[in-house]
Amino acid sequence: MGSRVDYLRISITDRCNFRCTYCMPPGGIPWKPHTDILSFEEIVRFTRAAVAAGISRVRITGGEPLVRRQCVSLVKQLAAVPGIEDLSLTTNGSLLDGFARDLKRAGLGRINVSIASLDPARFFRLSGGAGLEPVLAGLASALDAGFSPVKVNVVALDGIENGLGEFVSLSRRRPVHIRFIEHMPIGRFDGGGWGFIPRERLLGELRAFGDLAPAPSPGGGGPAQYFQYAGAAGTIGFISSMSDHICGGCNRMRLTADGYLRGCLFSGDELNVRPFIGGDRQRLTAIILDAIDAKKFNRGGASPGPRTMSQIGG
Ligand code: SAM
Ligand code: SF4
Repeated sequence: MGSRVDYLRISITDRCNFRCTYCMPPGGIPWKPHTDILSFEEIVRFTRAAVAAGISRVRITGGEPLVRRQCVSLVKQLAAVPGIEDLSLTTNGSLLDGFARDLKRAGLGRINVSIASLDPARFFRLSGGAGLEPVLAGLASALDAGFSPVKVNVVALDGIENGLGEFVSLSRRRPVHIRFIEHMPIGRFDGGGWGFIPRERLLGELRAFGDLAPAPSPGGGGPAQYFQYAGAAGTIGFISSMSDHICGGCNRMRLTADGYLRGCLFSGDELNVRPFIGGDRQRLTAIILDAIDAKKFNRGGASPGPRTMSQIGG
């Protein structure tokens, strides 16, 4: 096994108000019935057991986490779990303007906003018909509410320009950390069949806008490598899951909204832990430890299985 597993991504819903072309098929996917989705009580119980198994950092994801009712209350409950040192959330930003301050008050530490393009027409196309304005308002609210660092996730897609110039300009003006993520062919629809843009090619294109010097990580402990334009308020990072073998440094587990524990994005191996959540906590911790032990770094070897990114949580 590689590095110590201390990071858990918890998907709190499979539902989403976007239809990003790289995440789910154009017609969307049937949502799971509410009864299939873990309750807040179950999520918190699982998290307590996970802390005993070595987890100290939790990221809330989805689907779109902010579409789940009372999500601020869940944030508050997770922030209060002893042993959770870092609580963060990944969102498409569309509802963030209305939630940023309450999330901060509830104890959320960090926010990532996913934005595929800062050009309204491209954004409309890539998000499956959503508007960019509310997302930008959400990003601004996250900064105003005092979140730091605020990161922007950009899935870099070959065959369409994400619009690099606008991202360069944002990183110069605002203290946001833009991370280009290589597209991953996950799920029964292969992530929409897009190609990924390797980091070296993107770096070359970004250098056309000015010198980029290596920069320290803004924090969060993920696998990104960072650079910065001279005098910029923010940074530019790369998460190269396809062109780099980052499996050996992988420190994360994933809990799906319907209660399956999964060790790897690229492997469909998962364990239904829901039946154990209501029982003895030590037994649940032992089951989580076994799943961590079984975590295979089998990128390229195994099948990622049928779940879309929105059903796993990214
Ligand atoms: N709805 C939230 C959002 O978009 O941030 C959270 C869930 S989303 C599944 C989590 C992350 O997965 C997002 O940053 C999104 O850009 C990323 N993602 C989705 N499909 C992807 C793909 N095929 N390859 C790489 N990243 C992907
Ligand atoms: Fe929804 Fe996020 Fe997937 Fe886009 S990437 S469809 S916002 S879950």
